[in-house]
Amino acid sequence: MECIFCKIINKEIESKIVYEDEKCVAFEDINPQAPVHILVVPKKHISALRDAGEEDRELLGHVLKIASKIALEKGLEKGYRIVVNDGKEAGQTVFHVHFHLLGGREMGWPPG
Ligand code: AMP
Ligand code: ZN
Repeated sequence: MECIFCKIINKEIESKIVYEDEKCVAFEDINPQAPVHILVVPKKHISALRDAGEEDRELLGHVLKIASKIALEKGLEKGYRIVVNDGKEAGQTVFHVHFHLLGGREMGWPPG
């Protein structure tokens, strides 16, 4: 499996893991776009949000809820943003579904 996030999940490559449970892992983005930039990733390999099945509903809900818990643990009570890039045109570069948790600075809208 040539998936970089599966390798992180399996501890085959290093990352700064900030949270882990039986269903998901959260680690610091290697190229942070904000003072807090964490990727929250299901352990199950799903290539993109569009490829998630009905059976993945609960899993993705769990991952999203964990992202919000991490945000508050990181002191982002004033606000934070959670982003999913789905597909190349949206900026997806790693094809293992993930939620970006961004915070610690003022966010612009619309996003770029
Ligand atoms: P996306 O462009 O939405 O697919 O997001 C992929 C993210 O993964 C980018 O923000 C990258 O900086 C990040 N990334 C890529 N490789 C690694 C890695 N080895 N460890 C941590 N983050 C990574
Ligand atoms: Zn994967």
